[in-house]
Amino acid sequence: MEKEIDGEVEREKQRVPDTPVEVLVELLIKANNIAASTGNMPEELKSHLQKAVDIAGGLDDYLDKITTQESEPLAELYKKTISHDWDHVHKEGKTLFRLPKECITGHVEGQTLKMLIHMSKAKRVLEIGMFTGYGALSMAEGLPEDGLLIACEIEPYLKDFAQPFFDKSPHGKKITVKTGSAMATLKELAAAGEQFDMVFIDADKNNYINYYNFILENNLLRMQGVICVDNSLFKGKVYLGDTTDGSGLALREFNQFVADDPRVEQVIIPLRDGISVIRRVPLAAESSHGQSKIRDDEVFRGINGRPILDRMRLDGKVAYVTGAGQGIGRAFAHALGEAGAKIAVVDLDPDRAEAVCEELFLKGINAFSITADISKSDDVQRMIDSIVSKWGTIHIACNNAGINMNSASEDTSLEEWDRTFNVNLRGTFMCCQAAGRVMLKQGYGKIINTASMASLIVPHPQKQLSYNASKAGVVKLTQTLGTEWIDRGVRVNCISPGIVDTPLIHSESLRPLVQRWLSDIPAGRLAQVTDLQAAVVFLACDASDYMTGHNLVIEGGQSLW
Ligand code: NAD
Repeated sequence: MEKEIDGEVEREKQRVPDTPVEVLVELLIKANNIAASTGNMPEELKSHLQKAVDIAGGLDDYLDKITTQESEPLAELYKKTISHDWDHVHKEGKTLFRLPKECITGHVEGQTLKMLIHMSKAKRVLEIGMFTGYGALSMAEGLPEDGLLIACEIEPYLKDFAQPFFDKSPHGKKITVKTGSAMATLKELAAAGEQFDMVFIDADKNNYINYYNFILENNLLRMQGVICVDNSLFKGKVYLGDTTDGSGLALREFNQFVADDPRVEQVIIPLRDGISVIRRVPLAAESSHGQSKIRDDEVFRGINGRPILDRMRLDGKVAYVTGAGQGIGRAFAHALGEAGAKIAVVDLDPDRAEAVCEELFLKGINAFSITADISKSDDVQRMIDSIVSKWGTIHIACNNAGINMNSASEDTSLEEWDRTFNVNLRGTFMCCQAAGRVMLKQGYGKIINTASMASLIVPHPQKQLSYNASKAGVVKLTQTLGTEWIDRGVRVNCISPGIVDTPLIHSESLRPLVQRWLSDIPAGRLAQVTDLQAAVVFLACDASDYMTGHNLVIEGGQSLW
């Protein structure tokens, strides 16, 4: 609470208790005062009462102190909201309702909502009942940069009040306020086929049940989304026997309705005035559709109950990427790590490998670096052994390291030919074989080699015979191993990038050719390393288990022209 604001200390003292804990504290203080002024009270009772006052009375302040502090724009919005004369505004006819400042979502609840947004990885949020936007801005802070929060607010005055604060925050641009009846807005959103990852309901209590039903019946909540409902404990009135208060009774009915609803699961977090967190049970099909024509199979439920994007995760998997110190390999290491795998970062250059490890570690991805020259058999075996001794196994082998040298074929030296083949083909074979032995023994593995579009076409005008031939070899190696090992659980595939904007093509001889290449690429641009990331995750995950010996070409259409 902002105690420095003029007059606010006084107003804080006069505050009506607004949560079960605040009501409890008020009652305990009264009881404690009575006990203190009553002569023959047993000391033990007084001591228990004092302890109860200390525990209940200290809770909110402690949560406030220990919860991550709010941002500047939120702090300012809070101050402005609680010091605003809402009664006066209402008397002047600027708001339809008399708005109590207690409506504001405070610091601890705001940070809780922001945390829920992070935890549920929500990108699109719907808020029903915005008030001055404290909750909206807290949630927006938790959204990714391209996230969106639509706030429904009946009072146009509140939109005008909140907007300048949104404008001051870098997260405010994620918020769109729609004024008018929330139900009308919900209908409009449903008609447009909109869906949300999280819906926060904090509006007129009598309508909670209607909003909730409308959201579920019209698929406004996406499959794994959550609905959060504010004030669901309503000062304890939802469970007190003598409640006559209309909102308390409405919330009691709402809570019971949700508890009995087979479409969802719910918990109430007893924070402030209670936040219900309600999750759609993904497949309550039988109960909601009765004798319908739904085919309850793996297509409907997902394999092992996992929907497709979950099946593309790599949690718990052990991967290595060669040539991961820069370029395509670095992007592969990040992608596999983001999808959940632990990564051994392998490169000829120890500093590059170590730097990529640090990047991964900063993102919460377990990684370690290995310095190895994959054209040397001892190095390859040492690489495999050190991964197995550290992490016990290898699930994903990403054999990506490669080199490219240019010369006219009539001038290509045997040294260039041998160096290229030693890294690109012999090295890739040695990695496949050493990793394959581990994988065949465990009956599971995913090998992904980096070939090149040069395996299909002859890129020009640069002259790179040994490169082209070595990469064609990588494809045949992949096809052969892919068919030889599939029945023992090891899939071998390769990715053939077109021309990728990496240090490899920034050599003096290649740089002048970029304009020429662009005219050969239907996509009109070179590939970025990020264009290749989804492919490596796909080939590494269980969802691609039926693919083997495949050459996945990603070249913006270049090989088709
Ligand atoms: P890059 O030169 O930017 O990076 C390659 C990395 O591999 C470097 O960090 C290097 O130190 C490491 N490396 C080289 N030889 C090694 C060896 N013997 N042992 C261990 N590490 C070694 O290259 P890039 O563009 O990221 O290419 C990666 C792979 O993609 C290569 O196989 C390349 O042939 C292939 N590829 C690249 C392009 C492109 O346009 N860049 C296109 C198609 C295919």
